[in-house]
Amino acid sequence: MNVHDSERMADLLVAQGHRATESPDDADIIVLNTCHIREKATEKLFSDIGRIEKRARTLNGGRVKPIIVAAGCVAQAEGGEIAARAPGVDVVVGPLAYHRLPALLDAARERGAGPAVIDTDMPAASKFGQLPERRATGASAFLTIQEGCDKFCTFCVVPYTRGPEVSRPAAALVAEAEALVASGAVEITLIGQNVNAWEDSRSGGGMDFAGLIRAVAAVPGLQRLRYTTSHPRDMNEALLRAHAEVAKLMPYLHLPVQSGSSRILKAMNRAHTRESYLATLAALRAVRADIAISGDFIVGFPGETDADFEDTLRIVHEVGYAQAYSFKYSPRPGTPAATMGEQVPEDVKDMRLARLQAAIGEEAQKFNTASIGRITTILLERQGRKPGQLIGKTPWLQSAVIEHASARIGDLVEIEIVDAFANSVAARVLAPVSVAA
Ligand code: SAH
Ligand code: SF4
Repeated sequence: MNVHDSERMADLLVAQGHRATESPDDADIIVLNTCHIREKATEKLFSDIGRIEKRARTLNGGRVKPIIVAAGCVAQAEGGEIAARAPGVDVVVGPLAYHRLPALLDAARERGAGPAVIDTDMPAASKFGQLPERRATGASAFLTIQEGCDKFCTFCVVPYTRGPEVSRPAAALVAEAEALVASGAVEITLIGQNVNAWEDSRSGGGMDFAGLIRAVAAVPGLQRLRYTTSHPRDMNEALLRAHAEVAKLMPYLHLPVQSGSSRILKAMNRAHTRESYLATLAALRAVRADIAISGDFIVGFPGETDADFEDTLRIVHEVGYAQAYSFKYSPRPGTPAATMGEQVPEDVKDMRLARLQAAIGEEAQKFNTASIGRITTILLERQGRKPGQLIGKTPWLQSAVIEHASARIGDLVEIEIVDAFANSVAARVLAPVSVAA
């Protein structure tokens, strides 16, 4: 979501006549977009600002003093503190207010030695109607369908930084999907904090997330549809059926479990148990046997015992994740878990994370090995490390490496998977298919 927000801020500035530079060294405006989900990101913001401030005079060839913008969720949560700790920052803007960036930049140019311009409002009117019209910048595009979160998992800052859950109307989303496809996208990923809780408020609750998937999949020219992130609590029958019936919906589901211990899940306020999570996946696999499952895990949540952690290791093997992200619990100011007793020592977290990542790696390798021999398509995204190599994504979101002289980024290429590693597969091109074809 942050990558996408950064793209949208860039769109907005381009519409104002600016253009992107290759490096911050050449820029007149530097926007640092930030994440507040774990503590490290906040520290990184302050060290990046420090580095930029130190070199401010020599940036962009000394032409003008660059305007420094702190954006995103750290800006939202710590606006005043950023202004106090880093006087070189000109603008502080939260994730719900960045459509106002042009006016904020104007105010910053006029501020002289005055205080930083801060906008951490959560305006009632959505920013989406006020951003420039979408154009795809490549073959794969993000489409924000919903923002914010009402779930209040006890470890998480998102409900505080991105505000309450708001779904965008279906008609606007289908129109945006059409604009993306018309400008070159062949794959769309629907994004939001809890996309499967999406509902079309303007149709009187008539359409749910599965309905939206069908509506976007019906856009002519679209080849692949994905979504992320979804919550185990909101996986319903209709969404499972969409996975079985909608051919463009890719066989991949990112469904974070966080812990394999129902006791810890309860303390996390996740509203699902180990058993209900496994039952959801069993029902999904019954209708879509090849689906790749991905997840998020937190180790060292307050009160997590060795036995709880063993439950987490077991669920990794039971599910057989194709890939997963794992994090050490990071106490976030203002969240309930931050002040719970029984905080887990850092060295225990380190040890658990290493064991968890080894287990996830083992399962990912197994998943990739089992796919050897599959004949499928990949959507080429970028150059590989070696000359002549290109990397694309399989339907199961595996990174597949090919060597081919005439294939280009953005092509959908027919391939056979011939070798497997923990984080990628190697493939052989059967027939290049140009997107334009
Ligand atoms: N809305 C998504 C998650 C968004 S945050 C969902 O509910 O799945 C992305 C991931 O960051 C979470 O799934 C969680 O694993 C991790 N995370 C969130 N808060 C964290 C914290 N305080 N410490 C460590 N990891 C955290
Ligand atoms: Fe955070 Fe939980 Fe909401 Fe995900 S569902 S954004 S983890 S509060």
